[in-house]
Amino acid sequence: MAATETEKPIIRTSAPPPPHFVLVPLFGQGHTIPMGDLACLLAERGVRVSVVTTPVNAARLQGVADRARRAMLPLEIVELPFPPADDGLPPGSASGDNVIRLFLALYRLAGPLEAYLRALPWRPSCIISDSCNPWTAGVARSVGVPRLFFNGPSCFYSLCRHNVATHGLLHDGGDTAYVVPGMPLRVEMTKETWSAAFLNCMPKWEAFLEDVREGMRTADGAVVNTFLGLEEQFVACYEAGLGKPVWALGPFFLNNRDEQALATRVDKDKPSAVDQSAVTAWLDTMEQSAVIYVCFGSLPRMLLPKQLYEVGHGLVGSGKPFLWVVKESETASPEAQEWLQAFEARTAGKGLVMRGWVSQLAILSHRAIGGFVTHCGWNSLLESVALGVPVVTWPHFGDQFLNELLAVEVLGVGVPVRDAAVTVAPVLRGHIARAVSELMGGGTVAQERRRKCKEYGERAHRAIAKGGSSHQNLTQLLQSFMPSGSKEFLDT
Ligand code: UDP
Repeated sequence: MAATETEKPIIRTSAPPPPHFVLVPLFGQGHTIPMGDLACLLAERGVRVSVVTTPVNAARLQGVADRARRAMLPLEIVELPFPPADDGLPPGSASGDNVIRLFLALYRLAGPLEAYLRALPWRPSCIISDSCNPWTAGVARSVGVPRLFFNGPSCFYSLCRHNVATHGLLHDGGDTAYVVPGMPLRVEMTKETWSAAFLNCMPKWEAFLEDVREGMRTADGAVVNTFLGLEEQFVACYEAGLGKPVWALGPFFLNNRDEQALATRVDKDKPSAVDQSAVTAWLDTMEQSAVIYVCFGSLPRMLLPKQLYEVGHGLVGSGKPFLWVVKESETASPEAQEWLQAFEARTAGKGLVMRGWVSQLAILSHRAIGGFVTHCGWNSLLESVALGVPVVTWPHFGDQFLNELLAVEVLGVGVPVRDAAVTVAPVLRGHIARAVSELMGGGTVAQERRRKCKEYGERAHRAIAKGGSSHQNLTQLLQSFMPSGSKEFLDT
């Protein structure tokens, strides 16, 4: 059959084509940041990398593009045409309705992605797309390119979700026990956390989530941002469950930590980016490991003024110096703004409140940070553990509940803010004060927690160094998808 204008045939020559990986991230910092780091990781091994995304998301990758230019990495950011009205979440809201609308709008990128791939002089070696971009499955099949999915959460969560889905329990968790089946250890949840973790409380998502599962079933393997020294048994079980390779290549960010790269985590185009040097200057005045850092990730949330007050009072109640990052959406009301100003005046010298976007990696890397109150987004948790900083866990939704369980009960590096892990009870000032004091305290349990976290941090650094498990896994992944004749690039 003759190819049409849009179905340009892919040219094949006798010489091996240059290795080329095409990455398709999802919008949003929590998905785009690790994909940008993965792109650098691949390009540093000498393979050509194209990160293909919408114009708004491409702007978020400017720091990655700058880094690639400085280091002369073979990495480009490719913008696909996408209607500006649909490109990104409405400011100030990451509600489920807005998120699913955007996920579905992204299906319109399938045509432009296919046109881009067909216009390349060679067939790319592999596509790595976020698992929440299931529409890439049809494109990869049509163009004849292998496809891996990138799973953003912990492997522990991915395995729980996989087991729950394959046992048909996404909706009701079985009789009354709410125990995740097929796990190497007992994972017990409540009805509420089951529903929040597996998103079965959002009926509008059902068809989309089925498409995501289908995209995983038809992929050639998975890439995960973790390392064997942290999640080996879950990586092995997930691989067995999926019946295809799972490449643990993380922590991706550890490879991307020169000073300028850290600064690029500050979204310079955001009006909300804070003056990072003021943060560092304040931390420099603090004792080693004395400060508790508080930040709830990248998504705009409507934290009720009441919760804001509980956090503030809880931090003061702990008696520890604090660095608290507050997002614009959390202080949207005049009442909250007024309260926060008075709070800052009252606590000057004991704590620092920053409004907006900070470089979290720079903060977690500072010697003055001794603990982190986190919502347990996987990037935040992984960053903290890999930098040896133990956590107070305060999950809000989705995978965060199981990440909490991993941190508290499996790895032993966290204190749950509520009285127990994996519950949805309201968080009050007393909970925060108790959990922070427990985390930062001097008893043997706290010391043991810090020791374990430090050890995971050392393992993380070993994993990405030459000869480490993540480094070797990347070599194997590249060898699996590279054309023959180009293997000398791989083991640098
Ligand atoms: N982050 C940051 N500055 C901020 C808030 C977040 O650099 O002010 C980064 C953080 O280091 C992490 C990512 O944004 O890499 C957030 O991802 P995570 O998975 O923790 O949470 P999400 O935002 O997806 O809920």
